[in-house]
Order: sequence, then C-alpha cells, then structure tokens
Amino acid sequence: MSNDLDAARALDAADPVAPLRSQFALPRTATGEEAIYLCGHSLGLQPLKAAQYVEEALERWRHDGVEAHFNGARPWVSYHENLTPGLAALAGALPLEVVAMNSLTVNLHLLLASFYRPTPERSKILIEAAAFPSDRYAVASQVRWHGFDPRTDVIEYGGDAQFLLDEEALCEELERSGSSIAVVLLPGVQYLTGQVLACERIARVARAQGCVVGLDLAHAIGNIPLQLHDWDIDFAVWCSYKYLNAGPGAIGGCFVHERHARAFDLPRLAGWWGHDKNTRFDMPSTFAPLAGAEGWQLSNPSILAAAPLLASLELFQSVSRGQLCAKSMALTDFLARLLRERLQHRVEILTPSTQQNRGCQLSLRLDTTRDEAERIHTRLIESGVICDWREPNVIRVAPVPLYNRFVEAYEFVERLERELG
Ligand SMILES: *Cc1c(COP(=O)(O)O)cnc(C)c1O
Repeated sequence: MSNDLDAARALDAADPVAPLRSQFALPRTATGEEAIYLCGHSLGLQPLKAAQYVEEALERWRHDGVEAHFNGARPWVSYHENLTPGLAALAGALPLEVVAMNSLTVNLHLLLASFYRPTPERSKILIEAAAFPSDRYAVASQVRWHGFDPRTDVIEYGGDAQFLLDEEALCEELERSGSSIAVVLLPGVQYLTGQVLACERIARVARAQGCVVGLDLAHAIGNIPLQLHDWDIDFAVWCSYKYLNAGPGAIGGCFVHERHARAFDLPRLAGWWGHDKNTRFDMPSTFAPLAGAEGWQLSNPSILAAAPLLASLELFQSVSRGQLCAKSMALTDFLARLLRERLQHRVEILTPSTQQNRGCQLSLRLDTTRDEAERIHTRLIESGVICDWREPNVIRVAPVPLYNRFVEAYEFVERLERELG
C-alpha cells in the first residue's frame, strides 16, 4: 500500500503539468482542508484568472459604458474572437470552423435547423439509447417540428448505459440502414460510461451512406484529443463548464466543417450576430451570413459568461498538448490499476480499459444495493471526496490532468475501500 503512495508521490514530483494546479481555486471541506475534487466532468474548477477577466469586463462597463463595445482592450463586439484560437486547438479545427456562443442544447437546435433536412425517404435521426436526456428531447422535438414521428424517426441505438456501445455493430447498422438516416448524432465521450467512440471511423461509414454526422462533445472537449476537421465531422456542439472550466452556465460552442462554411443557401435560424461584420451596424434589412461557424451566431454574447473561458483557454494553451494527454492517460491508468488491485470484487469499472477508448473519467459500478451505493457516495462527500453518483449504483470520478494529482487518485481508492467496509 505505502508502495503505491510512494509511487503516487513520485509521479506527482515528476509531473511537468503539476504547477498548473496552483492556477485553480480548490474547493475546501467543512473543516477547511483541500477537498479531493474528482468532478471536473460535471463542473470544472475555477481558474484563478477568471475573476480578473470578469472584473476587467465589469470595470470597462463601469468606466467606459457603451464605448467598451468598440474601444480599448478586448472590445466586446469581437470578444468571442479571443476564444477562437484556443477552441480551434482543442477541437482540432480551423479557426473558421469554431465559435463560442449560446449553450449546448441551443447550439444543437441551431445546427439541426440547418443540417436536419428530412425527406420522406431519409427522415431519421440516429442517437444512442443512453443519450443525455437533453439531446434526446432536442432530436425528438426536431423530428416533430418537421412533421415526422419520433417513435419511428428517432433510432435509439444500443442498450442501456451499463453497457458499452458496440462500434462494430453500429457501423454494420449504418451500412444496412444508413440510406434512411438523415443525421447521426453521437457523443465524443459517453457521459455515463466514459466510453470514447471511434468518431473518425463511424463518421466515415455514416457519411459514405449520405448521413450528416454531428457530435455532442460535452464530455470530450478539453478531455480527449479531437481532430474534427480531419475526421470530416459535419457539425459539433459543446458546453464549457465541464472540462473547459468556464463556470456554471458558461458560453458554449460549436463546430461547422469548412465544407459548409459558405453554404449560404442552407436554411438557418438567423440573428444579427451571424450577419457580416462589415455591415452589421449599418442595420441592413437583408441578412448576409458570415462565413464559417460565426454565421450561426444569433445574439451578442454575454461577456461575463465568456470571460472565465478566456482564462481557462489560456491555461490549456500554456502547456503542451502532448504532456497534458500523457498525464491524463497515466493518471487514469494509475487510478484504474489501484481499483483493480484493491477492489476488484467490489467495484467494476464500466469504462473501457484501453487508452484509446477512454478519457480521464472512470465510471465505477459498486457491488452493493442502490441504497448502500447512495450512502457510500454521501460518506465520500462528507469525507471531502467530491465525485458523483448515478442511479442505481454507479460513481463517476474524473481525475483531471490540469489540476488533479496522483496522490488524490490514491487517496480516493483508500477512502472508497474504507467506505465499502
Ligand atoms: C452536460 C451535457 C449537456 C448539457 O446541456 P446544456 O444545454 O449545456 O444544459 C448536454 N448533453 C450532454 C451529453 C451533456 O453531457
């Protein structure tokens, strides 16, 4: 046991990314100690600089009023452009292909308005059976909006969330019935199991059948390496309060592939912020969309909700992508190994065991009743370990490479073992 603790300490000492932890506000327990925060998959921690950037926006408002839209440091009309390079890097996209705007479900609707063009022959949307409820509601309502029937036109692929999605079978299904499917909407990382899907391969098969491919990257962006442009994904949406650490209700984002950048004849739900920047303030009566993802914007964005994202993206940009990715894999491998060695018969890791099929999150099914699992979760929280619990007996933990340490993974397993009795 102490061997493992020593190993954890040595790994922390040798970790080139470790200094970044000091750039985040670390939640405290009731007794004032640092909590072991393993919930970055749900709400990422606050970058210390977030307060400074929010205050900067408030100060500009106090001092300059409406002038801050156009003048001074980081004018508000183009504020979202400050976020583009960091988002493009994380998405594996061209700057033209990404924009920070709205929130995830809103962006999903806006992009489905353009990319879900059902015909009687091709009217279906394929999602996974264990899809996040908001995604399910969004696609069902879109199907109904177009006069089709969700009972026949929403295909829910796969079983329940306690099982992994079988990619091989999904590709075969797409080859069989792809010609009736208008849109394939899949997660980059499945939120309950932490499974990473082979998006590139699935997209290739789906697009060969003429389907549009959309991704929900809520649990993927900032967690796993993405190459949306090269993978030929049509569109993607995300929120920024999970691995992007931008705070509750932060501004979300979207990706639209370059090949659609000038598809101005695509129907879209338009607003003035998507209109050509050069003539926007001439207030013309005809809408002329911007090229690229920016052309899907509707409103001027909340600067106060965008400022923390800027702080977080700067932290991502301050480390090498390779180092961050290597730490993520080493940290999650370390946690998985300890769980296997010490709790093999009491905890089942639902998340795939191979590095290419998972990000940093592990979903743990406890070999207990539902009520006992809930009690264990409550006691973990009381002991200062912040993780989450999903019905009936699953605990999700995400050691996040930007701010978590190897000793925290060790300490989590210690406490879980204690609570399991
Ligand atoms: C977190 C999450 C959402 C959240 O949607 P909002 O519109 O940001 O509230 C949607 N989909 C998935 C898969 C998520 O994990």
